[in-house]
Amino acid sequence: MADNRNIIQVQNLRKDFGKLEVLKDISIDIEVGEVVVLLGPSGSGKSTFLRCLNQLELATAGTILVDGNNVTDKHTDINKVREEIGMVFQHFNLFPHKTVLENIMLAPVELKRMRKEEAKEKGLQLLRRVGLDAKSDAYPSQLSGGQKQRVAIARALAMNPAIMLFDEPTSALDPEMVGEVLNVMQELVADGMTMVVVTHEIGFAREVADRVVFMDAGYIVEQGRPEEIFNNPKEARTIDFLNKVL
Ligand code: ADP
Ligand code: MG
Repeated sequence: MADNRNIIQVQNLRKDFGKLEVLKDISIDIEVGEVVVLLGPSGSGKSTFLRCLNQLELATAGTILVDGNNVTDKHTDINKVREEIGMVFQHFNLFPHKTVLENIMLAPVELKRMRKEEAKEKGLQLLRRVGLDAKSDAYPSQLSGGQKQRVAIARALAMNPAIMLFDEPTSALDPEMVGEVLNVMQELVADGMTMVVVTHEIGFAREVADRVVFMDAGYIVEQGRPEEIFNNPKEARTIDFLNKVL
């Protein structure tokens, strides 16, 4: 049954790749407007978990409800659900032969049949929001990494998603560009966006996360408020991981 407060409801999610059991048993509910930071060692299944939420990876077992829609049910119109979920990756995946503005307009025009004029206006508005309105006619190759990532965020927002998923959005950036991307993300938080963020930026997690979830080897090992997890972790695996990244 749909639970209005929990926009994401995951129960006993399992994901195997052949013989490799990547997600072993993940259950988590995420509220509307909640900001969840996912932490964990490389290979622990963080990206796979995000990708299961919009069924870029098919769950092996378990159920996932997004805004009440069971995305693991074959009868669900997954494309409709995907429109509610914006995703930003480590590598920006912008279309190289399209301008910044065209990159942003593409999905609303193609998938939502938005009029080009309207998509353009909305695109320019989003570019202002990420501080890049001056770059609307530039091509991705003419932008810095931080600028490309801000365009990728604007592009995801163009579909008016209810949820934003970020998979290590600053990991590929030169250090001096990390801040500008985190600032844009922080503004989204201030606007009340529901967000699930995989990141090693502990400062960001401390400042903006409502909840920090620590994953290891396909399980959620520990979760709680950032100050609980960072100042007073309880599980040996969490302590060991934090000792390496802090
Ligand atoms: P994380 O994001 O925490 O680093 P991933 O979710 O990317 O972890 O990967 C978890 C495990 O699943 C890794 O062992 C990885 O090699 C494996 N894996 C991820 N995607 C695939 C795939 N498409 N096919 C086979 N194995 C995969
Ligand atoms: Mg990953």
